[in-house]
Amino acid sequence: MLEKKNEQNNHIIIIGGGQTACFAAEEIRKYDKFSDLLIISNEKYLPYQKPPLSKDCLIGNMKYEECLIYDKNFYIKNNIKININETILKIDFKKKEIITDKKNFYYYNKLLIALGSKPNKIEKFNLVSGEINYLRDINDSINIKKKIDKSSNILIIGAGFIGLEIASILKVKKKNVTIVESANQILGRTIPTGLSQIIQNYHQLYGVDFNLNSKISNILKKNENYEIHLDNKKIFHSDLIIAGIGSSPNTDLFVNSDLKIDNGIITNEYCETNIENVYAAGDIANFYHPFYKRYMRLETWKNAQNQGIIAGRNIIGIKDKYDEIPWMWSDQYNLNIQLSGVCDDYDSHVIRGTKPSEGIIYFFIKNRKIIGACGVAFGGKIGRDIKIASKLTKNNISITKNYLSDTNTKLNKLLQ
Ligand SMILES: Cc1cc2nc3c(=O)[nH]c(=O)nc-3n(C[C@H](O)[C@H](O)[C@H](O)COP(=O)(O)OP(=O)(O)OC[C@H]3O[C@@H](n4cnc5c(N)ncnc54)[C@H](O)[C@@H]3O)c2cc1C
Repeated sequence: MLEKKNEQNNHIIIIGGGQTACFAAEEIRKYDKFSDLLIISNEKYLPYQKPPLSKDCLIGNMKYEECLIYDKNFYIKNNIKININETILKIDFKKKEIITDKKNFYYYNKLLIALGSKPNKIEKFNLVSGEINYLRDINDSINIKKKIDKSSNILIIGAGFIGLEIASILKVKKKNVTIVESANQILGRTIPTGLSQIIQNYHQLYGVDFNLNSKISNILKKNENYEIHLDNKKIFHSDLIIAGIGSSPNTDLFVNSDLKIDNGIITNEYCETNIENVYAAGDIANFYHPFYKRYMRLETWKNAQNQGIIAGRNIIGIKDKYDEIPWMWSDQYNLNIQLSGVCDDYDSHVIRGTKPSEGIIYFFIKNRKIIGACGVAFGGKIGRDIKIASKLTKNNISITKNYLSDTNTKLNKLLQ
């Protein structure tokens, strides 16, 4: 394998110790055994995967230690220095210097910003911090898990992926679950109405109480309980409140800097920011996607991993563009939801399948090409067809709608 010894690159620093950081560091070390490579993270854990925090860990099917991407031997063996429990306070891009809460100053030649995103918070209702719970990291998941065990009536604010995943765990644990959502459909505009209705029906079958088109007008604390007031005058009680109302990129550190920010750090397809030798990837990056010819910021596991890898390559001088077709999944009960590509800006759509037991996929078409696909099924039944849809998108293959909608056809034939 190509190894590069480049004196110019000898201090590479990655800030943020999540999935993006870990995969970028691993990629850098595949090619570059010589540079100093340091990850700085404010968490007390080595880099870990976040998807199980709202799924298997919350229900108790997976231990938190199992979320670690690699154990400490990986970092020792690969000579990757990792400083956990250390928070970046400031970056001086002119001096190429990072300042942390431990009063440490670090000099870099190349910097990767992989600080991820943070949950949007509800700042009203006069509640003290911690009374509305959010799920972003291991500590949040441990905390929510403990509180769930002591609660019976749980309010979830927001019917996005995280809120709905938690709702499904709570119903399996036989809790009473009420969801309040300001939009008129669950999962916002991310997925088509037909599919969101199927997912909502499934939650309702398990007994989740949905309040769509609703806003909370007040929350009053009464002893250890909360009295929830909706703007339609409905009042109910809850002993635990969890909110999942979206996330924002962790860009506060850069407010008065020269770094270009617009819903995340703006990068080109090579993960380069507007500042030389400064790169960004993962949830924090609003990157130019050369295939879709537009900027996008993704908060997905696959993007964190693969954009991290591409950032790593570019940092050590292998010019490689990130043009992967987006993909993400969610699991709720035994229902698996998958999305590939983009599900907006289409001129028509085609539906394949009618029942979740066999799989239902919506294909989004523009100029006879699939630009995105979104499906639901019990178990992983749609996985193969979603993967094929992604390849059809990437290879710009024209399709006929009748072929896509006919469940007797084999989609992989379209690739030939
Ligand atoms: C509960 C949950 C469930 C999810 N489920 C799915 C799923 O089912 N499917 C899917 O595709 N995606 C899912 N995701 C999204 C996916 O996990 C994220 O997109 C991915 O973790 C982003 O990786 P990242 O490295 O960019 O950010 P992060 O993993 O957030 O890592 C950023 C790191 O930077 C640290 N940091 C921030 N500020 C500082 C600072 N000032 N100093 C030092 N360190 C700092 C943070 O503490 C964090 O450790 C889920 C996310 C969550 C939270």
